[in-house]
Amino acid sequence: MNSSGPPSIALLRAPRVILRVSAMTSLVLAFLLTLAVDRAAAEPVFSFAATPGKLLKTVVPIHYALDLAPDLDKLSFAGSETVDIEITEPTRRLVLNAVDMTIEAAAVDGEATSELALDAAAETVTLAFPHPIAAGRHQLRVSFTGRINRFGRGLFVVDYPTADGRKRMISSHLEPADARRIFPSWDEPAFKASIALTVTVPQELLAVSNMPVAREEPTGDGNKRVAFQTTPRMASYLFVLAAGELERVTADTGGVTIGVVTARGKSQHGRYALDAAGDLLRYFNDYFGIAYPLPKLDLIAVPGGFGGAMENWGGITFFESRLLFDPATSASDARRGIFGIIAHEMAHQWFGDLVTMAWWDNIWLNEGFASWMQAKAAEALHPDWQSWLNGSGFKQAAMSEDARRTTHPIQQAIANESEAMAAFDSITYAKGQAIIRMVENYLGDDAFRAGIRAYMMQHAYGNTTTADLWGALEMASGKPVATVAAAYTEQGGIPLVIAQASCKGDTQRITLRQERFTIHDPAPQPQHWRVPVARGVVGGMAGEMLLLDGAAEIAAGRCGDPMKLNLGDVGYYRVQYDAAMLAALTRSTDRLTPADRANLLGDTWALVEAGRVAPAVFLDLAAPLIGDDNRAVAEQIISALTRIDHLQWGRPERAAFQAYGRAVLRPVFDRIGWDAAPSESADRAPLRAELIGVLGTFGDEAIVAEAKRRFAEFVKDPASLSTALRGTVANLVGHHADRATYDTLLTLGRNTTNTDERVRYHMAAASAHDPTLANETLAIALTDELPTSLIGRLISQVASLGEHRDLAWSFVKANFAALAAKQGPSFQNNFPANLLTNFTDAAHAQELADFAPAHSTSGGRIVAARSYERIMTAADFSAQQLPAVDEWVKRRMAQP
Ligand SMILES: [Zn+2]
Repeated sequence: MNSSGPPSIALLRAPRVILRVSAMTSLVLAFLLTLAVDRAAAEPVFSFAATPGKLLKTVVPIHYALDLAPDLDKLSFAGSETVDIEITEPTRRLVLNAVDMTIEAAAVDGEATSELALDAAAETVTLAFPHPIAAGRHQLRVSFTGRINRFGRGLFVVDYPTADGRKRMISSHLEPADARRIFPSWDEPAFKASIALTVTVPQELLAVSNMPVAREEPTGDGNKRVAFQTTPRMASYLFVLAAGELERVTADTGGVTIGVVTARGKSQHGRYALDAAGDLLRYFNDYFGIAYPLPKLDLIAVPGGFGGAMENWGGITFFESRLLFDPATSASDARRGIFGIIAHEMAHQWFGDLVTMAWWDNIWLNEGFASWMQAKAAEALHPDWQSWLNGSGFKQAAMSEDARRTTHPIQQAIANESEAMAAFDSITYAKGQAIIRMVENYLGDDAFRAGIRAYMMQHAYGNTTTADLWGALEMASGKPVATVAAAYTEQGGIPLVIAQASCKGDTQRITLRQERFTIHDPAPQPQHWRVPVARGVVGGMAGEMLLLDGAAEIAAGRCGDPMKLNLGDVGYYRVQYDAAMLAALTRSTDRLTPADRANLLGDTWALVEAGRVAPAVFLDLAAPLIGDDNRAVAEQIISALTRIDHLQWGRPERAAFQAYGRAVLRPVFDRIGWDAAPSESADRAPLRAELIGVLGTFGDEAIVAEAKRRFAEFVKDPASLSTALRGTVANLVGHHADRATYDTLLTLGRNTTNTDERVRYHMAAASAHDPTLANETLAIALTDELPTSLIGRLISQVASLGEHRDLAWSFVKANFAALAAKQGPSFQNNFPANLLTNFTDAAHAQELADFAPAHSTSGGRIVAARSYERIMTAADFSAQQLPAVDEWVKRRMAQP
């Protein structure tokens, strides 16, 4: 699954300072401590019987023959299923998952239930029978009816605009645990079974599922029955059904039919995705050593319902704008995001779908691996994109999260579905990705790939735990993978390597020691890692690797030679240099690679947040690098400046800070300019857009005026504005919009049938500074104008403006019941907690603590605790560090 966009440059980062412990934090901490059960022994390899979960392991589904008849008008469906089950202990009761449905009848081998009880809280149905069912093979028949919702869980509906008016399609989204909304099932990932689906839909609709259509026949009443081929054994959360007025373009790659499925009239915008998927299929077939196991793979564009993509086996669903590319309207750089998300979901077809984690405590195996493979495949097939370098902000975000008290181990106990939902976070994705990259680097590419191939071969169609993966990598490499990796996956937190140089004669020696790196946590539990430290003297020979276990002393060239640790930014740890070493590195930044410059900036800013160094240390390091035209380096700086600016909201000193930002960033932009040079690098266009955006935010009037001029031209002649700048220009114009401009933006959003453009112009309108317009934007959230999945985004866009945070939060509180009914059960767990992180003061942290709906499930309490901690770290950082930032800016601006 992929629910986040590309890493934001305005990453939320938080500082460490003195803690204010309230009743809320201690409660939350006590709760989190119960979650962070210390695993004394390393995790065992997969065993079905020992796999966590709620369902009894003595009844196992083998095959579902499933029949569904959705009614797109009534938003309901009728279903029946015949499930072949294997029973190992005689029983009178069967317990399986079902939620939000009505069971009409159930029978085993023809004998009807004597009792049938749905438990809404447990999301199960218990079927009791008059006689015990003997051990052995049986057939369970169930008929049922369920609902099609609008909130993107289970089977959902999307209404979308077309040139012929509004149309309706259905699609499904089941991870982690919503197959139970579509058919009564053993809806836990270790209960793998084959599925043969038959669906009845209106004749003019195209229905798509995991497998190719086996046969299709009209039913005589305007409908048709579509039977799909039987799937291999698979986890229930990977089932997919989509149907609507759709069309499909296909290509054959090594005997596999790859399809891009879109709303009618849009399939030509799937050409880029189709080509990318073909390249990726060849790459993955080779890498994994096992050919893609299904006869077809569809990439399905869904114009609403959810925001990212989902790796359903053989039928990946994408939010439309994440998959389709229209050269007339999409920024050419959007291809990177499309390629990346396809690579991620296609990697899951092996890692996740063919071989599946046993339980959600190992979801990182799926997501960390797919995130790693996404970058690796892009690096292999599009080296000019520099995906590892440009993704460094993604790792930085996870490292910030992992430094907080509310972090968690990559492998963590998951008690229920709400906790599984909360596990789809930056620790699972980005830390998981970074750890896998570090392990690959430690073992070498070839040994790592040999281990992955063996793992795939051994566990195909089965389940695993992390221990199975480490075992395969150890066999292939002969290195102690599990003992090194367990410290990163079985405990939360991040190591800090502290380096101090000394001189003996002309020889430099460096002592290294490790601590736990934390932000806003004065008394953390001490932890220990074996840290693979790559190091090198700048401009000297290639780096060397040291496995730092405690402390070490190493030779490091001649006295005063600049020594870089975490060379290449491959490792998952922070580094703190002593003042002399940092000064030597600062003098040699021009000889560091962009990855090392970005890494040095990222670590130094984190040390400021941790209260380990003064803000001046970062600002002094960054000042000469602000002219750096490498995008990843520039983004590190822009990210920190944007963060400081956000924290400055409402302070009189903000004006001086923004003046500093304009003074240093404007010359960088002036070198790059508004218009693309004919042969500029791939990173130039996105860097240009980012600089325009941040300069606009910092109040550069010339930039704003030029954006307005270009937008006015664009309205008359769309071709006049490069696709690469349309989003940025629209946002800037939206922020400064008067009534007429606001209406123009909304009209552009309302008149397009292109989802990407609709998002662009609605979000630009939602950026309006004028409070009357902001109120009008919020009112849209209560209408059916946008699919429900975009409503949260619309409100969040309003709330991202410092001046409208309170407006947006008041709106959410006042309309909570209506919004929650539209947005579905996850809304209360996530939305208020995330929205409130726009605030940076203790009073709003307390509001979150007191907001009961955010705490109604254990997963919701986890999300709320994380947000609370973020708000409080921001509040304390602002109070304690911003005055030093102001002082530095004052001195700097006074210099000639
Ligand atoms: Zn994923």
